[in-house]
Amino acid sequence: MFLGGNWKMNLTPSESEVLAKELLDFFREPLKVKVCVFPEFTALERVSKILKSSPIYLGAQNVAYEDKGAFTGEVSPNSLIELGVEYVIIGHSERRHLFKEDNKLLNKKVSKALDKNLKVIYCVGETLEEREKGDTFKVIQTQLEEGLKDVPLSSENLIIAYEPVWAIGTGRAATPEIAQEVHAFIKKVLGNNFLVIYGGSVKPSNAKSLIAQKDIDGFLVGGASLKAKDFFDIYKAMVGE
Ligand code: PEP
Repeated sequence: MFLGGNWKMNLTPSESEVLAKELLDFFREPLKVKVCVFPEFTALERVSKILKSSPIYLGAQNVAYEDKGAFTGEVSPNSLIELGVEYVIIGHSERRHLFKEDNKLLNKKVSKALDKNLKVIYCVGETLEEREKGDTFKVIQTQLEEGLKDVPLSSENLIIAYEPVWAIGTGRAATPEIAQEVHAFIKKVLGNNFLVIYGGSVKPSNAKSLIAQKDIDGFLVGGASLKAKDFFDIYKAMVGE
């Protein structure tokens, strides 16, 4: 199982430091699931130092598709690796929708990240409009096929996050049944050995019923990962404590 905390653009470097230190009080060895946090780029160095001797992994929210060069405003995978980053989120719905990153671009990022031995959390998910039109499976299949085209897929280095756009940051999580149906579909497309985690308004109060589903292998958490205790309560729900 995998639990990710996506801090998005919510914390400055010093605020990130405070949260990282708070996490150390909750998450102690040995952990029963892989736990990873994704601070803003500018906070990675400081958070990396704090988490260094902890069981919590460090991730980044995005990555460039090239190593170096004339790519103003981008962040190289080499820089992330130097800072101790092991996981990268690629294709988060905010990147897809606010910054117009399409499957073709995301495919280049996935390919580069895997080539660099970064582990990828590749996000897929339908909008409300797509769901209401009955296009959910079609949209997700296309996101999987085009975003992961010609990359050496392995359950070691790739996790899929199913994040329905209508559930992210809205307080309206998918029901366990809806999430389960899509997770099962993703595993049908990619194979049963891949971890498929759910994201979209996960909270301590709904984590237990979601994780009880057969094909939900963890969570990518936004809002609730900004409070150390809430994030830990989600962890506890996952491990049945
Ligand atoms: C996310 O950022 O991936 C997310 C799922 O956000 P939230 O938990 O706030 O809905």
